[in-house]
Amino acid sequence: MTKPLNELTIVEAAKGLRSKTFSVQELWDACSAEAARRNPELNAYLELFPADADAIARAQARIDAEGENASLLCGIPLAMKDNILIEGHVASAASKMLANYTATYDSTVTKKLKEAGVLFVGRTNMDEFAMGSSTEHSAYGPTKNPVDVTRVPGGSSGGSSAAASAHTALAALGTDTGGSIRQPAAHTGLVGMKPTYGRISRSGLIALGSSLDQAGPLAKSVADAKILYDVMKGHDPLDATTLTDDTYPVKEVGKSLRIGVPRHLLVEGLDADVLESFERTLAALTEKGHTLVDVSLPTSGYALSAYYVIMPAEASANLARYDGIRYGLAERGESLLEDYVQSKSSGFGSETIRRILLGTFVLSSGYIDAYYRKADKARDVLRAEYDAAFGSCDVIAFPTTPSPAFRFGEKSDPVSMYLEDVFTVTANLTGMPAISVPMGMVERDGVSLPVGIHFTSAHGADDLLFTMGAEVTGETL
Ligand code: GLN
Repeated sequence: MTKPLNELTIVEAAKGLRSKTFSVQELWDACSAEAARRNPELNAYLELFPADADAIARAQARIDAEGENASLLCGIPLAMKDNILIEGHVASAASKMLANYTATYDSTVTKKLKEAGVLFVGRTNMDEFAMGSSTEHSAYGPTKNPVDVTRVPGGSSGGSSAAASAHTALAALGTDTGGSIRQPAAHTGLVGMKPTYGRISRSGLIALGSSLDQAGPLAKSVADAKILYDVMKGHDPLDATTLTDDTYPVKEVGKSLRIGVPRHLLVEGLDADVLESFERTLAALTEKGHTLVDVSLPTSGYALSAYYVIMPAEASANLARYDGIRYGLAERGESLLEDYVQSKSSGFGSETIRRILLGTFVLSSGYIDAYYRKADKARDVLRAEYDAAFGSCDVIAFPTTPSPAFRFGEKSDPVSMYLEDVFTVTANLTGMPAISVPMGMVERDGVSLPVGIHFTSAHGADDLLFTMGAEVTGETL
């Protein structure tokens, strides 16, 4: 039996469009109908976009005219996270603060995707300003995990992971400051990739932690993730931190890859069956001719603490602009101070306020040396440790998360929520690229839930992650 069109991968859909098995309109209709059908239950989208007849016609005309030479993304329906600007559409970062903000320009990634012929299904739910690991911090209600609707889809890109996993779009875009692409991908059975810092432009992304943020794909296969990455990457004059192709020399690697495993990290807090699934996946990779190498990353134990100092510090600086005067929701009191207080109190949710307070505290004179500067030093040490480890291995592997998707409300204590990011934050602190690929299922309460394996590689070695990921899924790229 053939799959419904909305269940295809990008590679399969591109092939079907070229062979005229179906049209761009039919593919759009299949995704948009499924999105409308599932969204009342899942709340994956904050807004579903109406069909853009011109864009659909243009994509079809390009495929007809260019055939094999048309971009593989031409005519592909994609879900967009609500913190990535699309001209003329609201971009609210799931905050009341930006409920009425309509983007006046396209982000660079939006522009590149539009040029490739992508069609946007809608804007997806997320934790407010991308702070969180469950999408429970959205001002517009949580998103449900399509695999098990009693559980979270991960976060902060939980709307994107739910949208792609429920086949309402062929893939989705997310942003990742501490794991927000990779963790939701792991919790919904998708591939999620965070590029090397600077590989993809941040122009037109609503900033959270400017030294950590990267946009990236959530997709149903490694090949699809790579297609999206290839279209979005590249130097951008609008983002001075973007890399040029020769910023990091890419070292040659053999066909047999050396996989570094930091065994000392695989102890506390990791579910036994997640560890078993990880070991099985590693064993399968060694059978394919790859080798395992023990690596030691002694400072990793401090990564989470460093992240939860640096990230709130940067967030507090970035969010200062939403003061009810220059940007965002405006409420008026009796004085300027009241204007600020009322606008921020009604515009921001409690997690956002917590991080602003934390960030302002660690940057304040008297505390900046004790907290922020110390965390920044830890960041340098982590980077040096990873660089050294890549002397003896090509990638470093661990599970993406310690456990499968959790239930709503289960991590209402902020620190237990932060612990969800223990494996993912280091790639953002070091700026190194990382990918999460489905590695199997574990059972909770009679339901099979997906779990992911996580690979990090050296700066600039993004392509190696796709090669490694394809070895896990058995794809040929
Ligand atoms: N869960 C992490 C946090 O709450 C990561 C967020 C992100 O990557 N945007 O900060």
